[in-house]
Amino acid sequence: MLSNNPEFQNLLLLHGRDRRFGKLEEELKLLPDDIIRIEKKILTENKTIELAVSEWKELESKNNSLEKEILEISEKITKSKVRQLKVKKNEEYQALENEISNMVVLQAEKEDKQIEILIKIDDAKATAEVAQDKIVQRVNDLGQQKRNLENRISHVNQELVELNNEIESSRTQVENEMLKTYDRVKKVVARAPFLAPLKDQKCSGCNLRVSNDVISTALVEQKLTQCDQCGRIVYIER
Ligand SMILES: [Zn+2]
Repeated sequence: MLSNNPEFQNLLLLHGRDRRFGKLEEELKLLPDDIIRIEKKILTENKTIELAVSEWKELESKNNSLEKEILEISEKITKSKVRQLKVKKNEEYQALENEISNMVVLQAEKEDKQIEILIKIDDAKATAEVAQDKIVQRVNDLGQQKRNLENRISHVNQELVELNNEIESSRTQVENEMLKTYDRVKKVVARAPFLAPLKDQKCSGCNLRVSNDVISTALVEQKLTQCDQCGRIVYIER
């Protein structure tokens, strides 16, 4: 039987290496997209921090300008009171009195607003700090994942080089005619495996039943037999 043939065992070895090579190449194609996905996640996380911090800073600057306005009103009130001491006419005094009481009302309004904003600042600050703590940790984890993938890429590349050498050396061990048939099958069959054991008279590559001819050839002959459905090389396992 073919599977006892050392030449065929060399072909099986070559096939195993070719398949591993194909799988690594597939993996290598997907890895850059995985890295891009992680980079996008990192950007989103960082934006969340920026947003929380910028909301907090915006409130701080609102508070600062309110503070300034309140101080200005205070100064105006003081000035008006000084002027009030100097006026002689009653109407002028009254006019200043009205001005002052209007400014006091305005000042009180601004102070109420400032209290609201100070409460919001406390909340925003807490939110920003929590976001920062949590997200920094998450961004670190994502960074680690990214580095792992980058390492994987260089590892796979290295493995591909080594595997390629092993494949080259395997090819020299396979008998010429077998190798030619194998290479032809590789071209015709779109997907691995290119060698498939027969199971219950079915080709395990395409899962279809092969003809009796194929079975008897596989059982008796020492040359390669192909599935009459998909073209894969079929054999009977010991
Ligand atoms: Zn088949």
